[in-house]
Amino acid sequence: MIDLHCHIDLYDDPSKVISKCCSEKMYLLSVTTTPKAWFGTSALASKKDRIRTSLGFHPQLVHERYSELELFDMLLCKTRYVGEIGMDGGIEFKKHVSIQKQVFEHILQKSKLAGGKYLSIHSRLAASEVLSSLAKYPDAGIPILHWYSGSSDELHLAIKLGCWFSVGPAMLASKKGKAIVNAMPRERIITETDGPFGIFRGRKLMPWDIKIALDQLSQLWNCSFQEADKIINDNFKMLLKELK
Ligand code: MN
Repeated sequence: MIDLHCHIDLYDDPSKVISKCCSEKMYLLSVTTTPKAWFGTSALASKKDRIRTSLGFHPQLVHERYSELELFDMLLCKTRYVGEIGMDGGIEFKKHVSIQKQVFEHILQKSKLAGGKYLSIHSRLAASEVLSSLAKYPDAGIPILHWYSGSSDELHLAIKLGCWFSVGPAMLASKKGKAIVNAMPRERIITETDGPFGIFRGRKLMPWDIKIALDQLSQLWNCSFQEADKIINDNFKMLLKELK
């Protein structure tokens, strides 16, 4: 099982969550929301073969934590994985859109200079802004749009720009989310939970709830659970080959 966007450091007992992920032999991308969180969160995953920590700067936090951008730049050489980054056009964050864009494009530029990174990207109510920045930095790496919720035209542009998509139980529970996933190329989809932010049936998602996403995908794709699992595993292998 693969959870490509999970906030391990934000669970009540991160070490316990990590141990269970290890016993389930899960592959995990442990994303962070601030550069400062890198130290503690990457320590949680040390010597864990299947867990990678990504360096992040969440768009909802960049206006308050702008001074951490320098730390971001210093830490970038430590990982091939960047996220959670992106932009957020929600009502409470719209006023910070210019600083969000500045930070996002700064990160894309630095990722490009570093030879390209895997980028786990938030684009809530800001898909067109995110895509226009990605179009400016085609060599920033492999963009993976997490919990994509933009329009179908924007989705086509994202596909054209080479984006991948990580989708999870919360997204796949809604009619709109299902329709979006249905329009995504199957070979560019990876699973995520976005736990503990991702909620399903009133409960915070855990990384092993990826099983729920695989079950939902099997229904959407009209195939068995095993087949859906194989598609996601094959996609994951392809994704790991995308950045040389
Ligand atoms: Mn997230």
